[in-house]
Amino acid sequence: MTETIAFIGLGNMGGPMAANLVKAGHAVSGFDLSEASRSAAAAQGVKPVTSLADAVAGAGIVVTMLPAGRHVLSVWTELMALVKPGTLLIDSSTIDVESARKAHQMAADNGCKSVDAPVSGGIGGAAAGTLTFMVGGSADSFAQAQPILEAMGRKIVHCGDAGSGQAAKICNNMILGVTMAAVGEAFALGERLGLSHQALFDVASTSSGQCWSINSYCPVPGPVPTSPANNDYKPGFATALMLKDLRLAQEAALASGASTPLGAEAAQLYGLFDKLGHGGEDFSAIIKFFRDKAA
Ligand code: NAD
Repeated sequence: MTETIAFIGLGNMGGPMAANLVKAGHAVSGFDLSEASRSAAAAQGVKPVTSLADAVAGAGIVVTMLPAGRHVLSVWTELMALVKPGTLLIDSSTIDVESARKAHQMAADNGCKSVDAPVSGGIGGAAAGTLTFMVGGSADSFAQAQPILEAMGRKIVHCGDAGSGQAAKICNNMILGVTMAAVGEAFALGERLGLSHQALFDVASTSSGQCWSINSYCPVPGPVPTSPANNDYKPGFATALMLKDLRLAQEAALASGASTPLGAEAAQLYGLFDKLGHGGEDFSAIIKFFRDKAA
């Protein structure tokens, strides 16, 4: 079914996601504070508008793809005065669980439906329409959001009630941050022991050490030709974004009373690595930290 959709936040992820909604036949109005982002989206068939009010006029569905919780709460607060009851609000930004729940409450108080639907798959997945969506919200809201998300992604998982999508996202990325640090540490140790990268990869990728961080995203050049290590650690998934997600996991651990010592250590490591000027490099560049802390 063709829908009229407002898309707010046309950045690296939002731009290509909005373009895929257009390709699926939906009428999409796009708003972003940045003129450059609006023009790039317009070139992909999104109707560029210069205010939230213009974006949501006539829209039954609103998607937000913004940097952090404070942006989402501020935009959703404005949206509440603009959208009709019954509108479906989809937030695909990666934000803290508490802000996600506040946003859901705001929508419910205004008679709107809502899902938190953060994504995995990066800029490549956004462009190819192969993102994984982790969705939180009622069964009813999920059912309405599903066909829209399918136009932008390949796997759509209903994780539970409000905030569950964000919870799944930060748990997954905490695993990723910890395993990549562990893999970097092991390859740096292997180098000290005179082991070739290929030998360690051939063993670990088929033994009990295997994990996505080795098998699909090996942090040294050679064994996995598509990994950012082969491209001077150009992201991919930037260290600064990994740090953001690890900090969200720590906030959630603190708020819920969970103990996450490995996640805490990974947040510290990526924080130091970022401070050393590596925030724009792919997160797998963390291996440099274990070779030479001053790198
Ligand atoms: P981005 O900075 O490229 O895009 C964010 C856009 O939001 C910008 O264009 C900005 O101008 C716009 N914006 C900010 N405040 C606004 C407002 N009040 N009204 C309208 N527009 C506003 O970021 P991105 O890489 O597209 O990431 C978006 C979200 O997706 C983040 O939460 C990020 O953590 C998450 N994410 C990113 C990736 C990735 O690989 N880039 C992967 C998964 C999830």
